Amino acid sequence: MAIDRFGRNINYLRISLTDHCNLRCLYCMPEDMTFRPNPELMQDDELLLLVRLFAQLGFEKYRLTGGEPTVHPRVVELVRAIKKNPGVRSLTMTTNGVLLPRLAKPLAEAGLDRVNISLDTLDPKKFQRLTRRGKLEQVWEGIQAAEAAGLVPVKLNVVVVRGYNEGDVADLARLSLSHAWQIRFIEMMPFAGSTDLQLQATVTAAEIRQRIEAELGALEVVNGGELDGETRLFRLRGGVGEVGFISSVTMPFCAACTRARLTADGRLRLCLLREGEVDLLTPLRAGASLEDLRQLILDGVWVKPWGHGLAEGLIPLNRVMSEIGG
Ligand code: SAM
Ligand code: SF4
Repeated sequence: MAIDRFGRNINYLRISLTDHCNLRCLYCMPEDMTFRPNPELMQDDELLLLVRLFAQLGFEKYRLTGGEPTVHPRVVELVRAIKKNPGVRSLTMTTNGVLLPRLAKPLAEAGLDRVNISLDTLDPKKFQRLTRRGKLEQVWEGIQAAEAAGLVPVKLNVVVVRGYNEGDVADLARLSLSHAWQIRFIEMMPFAGSTDLQLQATVTAAEIRQRIEAELGALEVVNGGELDGETRLFRLRGGVGEVGFISSVTMPFCAACTRARLTADGRLRLCLLREGEVDLLTPLRAGASLEDLRQLILDGVWVKPWGHGLAEGLIPLNRVMSEIGG
């Protein structure tokens, strides 16, 4: 087991398959983002070796993210190979959904359990503005394809950005009345000057909830208010799906955090919002033994920070979201 010095059992690995992306969401990366050259990124055999080590150390939950995981040319084969590891209990993916119309079925057949799909608005023009290049209908088709392929329950991730989509939250929440989806509203996290947006653009979960309730009536607590992962869940009266809030900025869930992240260039990052990382790829390429690599992982996990420092104004400067694996 990988335990940190606060006694948390770290068993959830989020893997950034690539930092590349087919969109340029303005809260995630600059418009002229330069991606890392391929040789700097983990190659398939390197990634699979590291996953084997993590699984041996008791990591059970895995999420593929990025960048955009579906632009990885061998994403289906990687899903199949990762899922074969004894110890990999669940394998999910966070995606912008653009390529799901083609990939949802093969991914499900390869062993992917579920997907979270990012969708910040139902207005095609606003969608284009937020993603700088996306077409809403492709994502909508992607959601249908995911559902048809059995990648359920579909969860939609909505990042709310002041001045862009705070007026769209009720329309998005309304989807939960007729679809068995979880609509999760995420407080935007600032990533230094590398994106166009700063903390002032964050809309708090409290405000989002108020906006939804003003239009659609009271939200009822689900699960007695227990966190589901990082999400606090609610239901609209008569709804078949759920509405969730991820308040990483105003109500951090750090105490219950069981996550680590593996960046596309093979660094173990112990907190999304802290800069500290352990380089695994360089030693691996230099011929480190499996035992040495296991020890590097365990030592890194041990010093996982207690939580992020947004409240003290500490904002990560070294990477943007797409490079870490959100
Ligand atoms: N490309 C995939 C996608 O968009 O779903 C996966 C990677 S993306 C970095 C993972 C999640 O992080 C998405 O749901 C995205 O909306 C969210 N995200 C990106 N930048 C963010 C930010 N600054 N604050 C909060 N969430 C953010
Ligand atoms: Fe790409 Fe996802 Fe970042 Fe949008 S949020 S730019 S889709 S990685």
